[in-house]
Amino acid sequence: MNVHESEKIAGILTKLGYIEANEGEDADVVVFNTCCIRDNAERKATGHIGMMKTEKKKNPDMIVAVVGCMTQQDGAGRALKEKFPFIDIVLGTSNLALLETYIPSVAASRAKYVDIDDNELPPINENETFYRTSGTNAWLNIMYGCNNFCTYCIVPYVRGRERSRTKEAIIDEFKRLVDEGYKEITLLGQNVNSYGKDIYGNSYGFAQLLEDLAKVEGKHRIRFMTSHPKDFNRGLIDVIAAYPNICNNIHLPVQSGSDKILKLMNRHYTRDYYLDTVAAIREKLPDCGITTDIMVGFPYEEESDFLDTLDLVEKVRYSNAFTFVYSVRKGTPAAEMPQVDPLVAKDRIMRLIAAQNRITKELSKEYENKVFEVLCEDLSPTKKGCVCGRTDSGRLVTFAGGSDLIGKFCNVRITRSQSASLFGETEE
Ligand code: SF4
Repeated sequence: MNVHESEKIAGILTKLGYIEANEGEDADVVVFNTCCIRDNAERKATGHIGMMKTEKKKNPDMIVAVVGCMTQQDGAGRALKEKFPFIDIVLGTSNLALLETYIPSVAASRAKYVDIDDNELPPINENETFYRTSGTNAWLNIMYGCNNFCTYCIVPYVRGRERSRTKEAIIDEFKRLVDEGYKEITLLGQNVNSYGKDIYGNSYGFAQLLEDLAKVEGKHRIRFMTSHPKDFNRGLIDVIAAYPNICNNIHLPVQSGSDKILKLMNRHYTRDYYLDTVAAIREKLPDCGITTDIMVGFPYEEESDFLDTLDLVEKVRYSNAFTFVYSVRKGTPAAEMPQVDPLVAKDRIMRLIAAQNRITKELSKEYENKVFEVLCEDLSPTKKGCVCGRTDSGRLVTFAGGSDLIGKFCNVRITRSQSASLFGETEE
């Protein structure tokens, strides 16, 4: 989501006639696209913004803008401007388009802008241009915002309620991307499974949208993220099973395996409900790669809750898991709850990572000596003379080849695996 938003910002800068600079110090304009989902991301952004003070002294004409969800938190945009007076523009999450007006204005008159849209969200801008940077894959937003208010999460406060784009706008953009040669299109939303509810009620939802997109002609793959388990319905599994161009790869964030913690998180499902959903996916999509997000150290988490999480991880056998220690987000209900000792949380995350690494390694072994269709994405960053790409299930494969293979679908026999990495060779 954040990467795609940066593509929007780069699209605006391109429209204004700017070209990409190699490093911050060569730039005429620097835009910080911030994220506040975790404390660490926020601290990193603040650190990087602070470093611009020296650059700005060397080049006072440089324009510094800060946008994204960090600025949208209560009073944060103005506080940022006070802390770093050299910032020229501060925008929130829904008024990025104003960069197109404010940047020329700052360049012409050194005006300063702090413009956070605190109240009403503007209508979705369907005239955005993107400077796409993701190679063979294109990101496509199908909706914005979230209605779920998980007690640890800041997103609904800084991104507003769910707003779906119309199916016509999405299908149009999708067709354009296919015509432009993108081979993989990833549909984005905080909770793609509730797509359409705000504009179509129950008459058109994510499963229908996915089906309409899968019917678009051309050789391409579709991925999507993120799915909230409470809204992941069986009809969606049928659609994925019916269309080979919809990837067998589902990101289904569980967060915790303990019913007590799921309730405190306001997740609206139980571990049994989640495991039933996974069983339904496995029944119809046996080769599906299921990935997840898991948090440890959430308030009130006891050893028995953590053991429930470990047990769920063993049962599901995720192909990959993004694991985190709970991070306090000011303004969310969980921030007011009693916190778990950081040393206890650290011990739990290490045990969780060890379990998941073992499972990933075991699952990687199962790929050996089998042939998979891999979409070649890029030259390998680590192995000379090799390229890398992903299987339908989302696993990264490295194999011998050159830049002529980028953007092509290759049949690759997996010859070796190493933890999460797969290595192979092309076959006819
Ligand atoms: S579903 Fe929960 S975790 Fe995901 S964005 Fe919405 S509030 Fe945050």
